Amino acid sequence: MATSTMRVATEGERGVNTARAVKSLSEAVQVRTVSFSDRTLIDFGEFERFHALLERLYPLIHERLHKAALGHNLLYLWKAAETAGGNMNKKPVALMSHMDVVPAGEEGWEHPPFSGAIADGHVWGRGSIDMKFGLITILEAIEEMLEAGFVPSRDIYVISTCDEEVGGKGGISEIAGRLGSAGVRLDWVLDEGGVVGDGIVEGLDRPLAVVGVAEKGYLDLELSVEMEGGHSSAPGRATSIGVLSKAIAQVEARQMPSRIASPVREFFQQVSPHFGPAKRLVFRNSALFAPLIKRAMLRSPETAAMIRTTTAPTMISGGVKPNVLAARASAVINFRLLPGDTAQNVVRHVTNVVGDSRVKVKVLTESPASTVSPMGGPGFELIEQCILEHYPDAIVTPYLVMGGTDSKILEPLASGVYRFTPCRLTKKDIARMHGVNERASIEDIERAVRFFKSIIAKA
Ligand SMILES: [Zn+2]
Repeated sequence: MATSTMRVATEGERGVNTARAVKSLSEAVQVRTVSFSDRTLIDFGEFERFHALLERLYPLIHERLHKAALGHNLLYLWKAAETAGGNMNKKPVALMSHMDVVPAGEEGWEHPPFSGAIADGHVWGRGSIDMKFGLITILEAIEEMLEAGFVPSRDIYVISTCDEEVGGKGGISEIAGRLGSAGVRLDWVLDEGGVVGDGIVEGLDRPLAVVGVAEKGYLDLELSVEMEGGHSSAPGRATSIGVLSKAIAQVEARQMPSRIASPVREFFQQVSPHFGPAKRLVFRNSALFAPLIKRAMLRSPETAAMIRTTTAPTMISGGVKPNVLAARASAVINFRLLPGDTAQNVVRHVTNVVGDSRVKVKVLTESPASTVSPMGGPGFELIEQCILEHYPDAIVTPYLVMGGTDSKILEPLASGVYRFTPCRLTKKDIARMHGVNERASIEDIERAVRFFKSIIAKA
């Protein structure tokens, strides 16, 4: 007994059952809740097994919270105290974390992807971060708070969808519909989309906790050219494939204009004090130095994506035979929309750049960019406070999420939508998420349970 090093556990630390949290995440990973766009490939039995697992792992949650299953999506409601203490005028909040995972081949894994192996201080496997990490640590926090007799001062929803990874937004739309028609209005929503990044920004020696306050939109455009087919021995002056190829090259060469949107500007503000003097001057005055910053950012694909709608030709087809002119050639270009850019803007831009009426432009899929949630105010400030409580050395900053999350669909119901998972990751760790050797450290699991306990207690 080393009395000199003993200390009293703080409120947040009391009762964290790390062993159970780790074992629970391991078991959760072992259930193969893989989603596919083609629904016939989905094994819904796995999702049913997953629901049953949660019931077994978290008996108090399943006894005391209201649970609704909408298809294979889960919606829990933890009711606020009827009396005593709590401010009954506070609007509910929602914690989100999807249960489906992307597929995983067996190749290249140190531990098989659905083993849930606990080794080297980590839980290994597909979904151990994205996003069973979030779901299990949220539920652990709640179960432990129920064990301690805690009752929240406002209603808390927990939302877990089964189809986030296929981007269909079916699950979350159904849940949003259910909440909306029940008249539920949320104060804030917390979903995936930001982490505590280690060594993500060059020249920054402290971890950077990025809280997504907005996310980019999604647009697929089809470009197609129809022309006279015929024998390739006597081609006309232009062919469908030639015209289409030129159009694609032009769209790539003249991309959508770059712009420093408000979450990115705020990101610079927060990060700049931690840079050396020259960079500090430039980034703190991002409006003044915009041309310089843009030029620097456009040099790398990751930073370029932060300041413009990206342009990525992803599919092309045309022709049936080597000696026959293609009567039709088509391509798909995928754009990720910066907040403020719309599908119509992009169609107009592409049409102008191509400047050839033989090229038809058609919208295939479109999902607008999110709005920008308040970067101050109670929701953001509470998240920031809880991050600093558990990651005291982190710099917290608003951020623009490059991909898409379910939380965007809840925007009409919520005053603020934030995207952050309490998990400390390097660039390499981030690449594991949809790649091989995805894993969560035991330290992160424990800290995430504490984080969610804090945020629920203070909400
Ligand atoms: Zn995810």
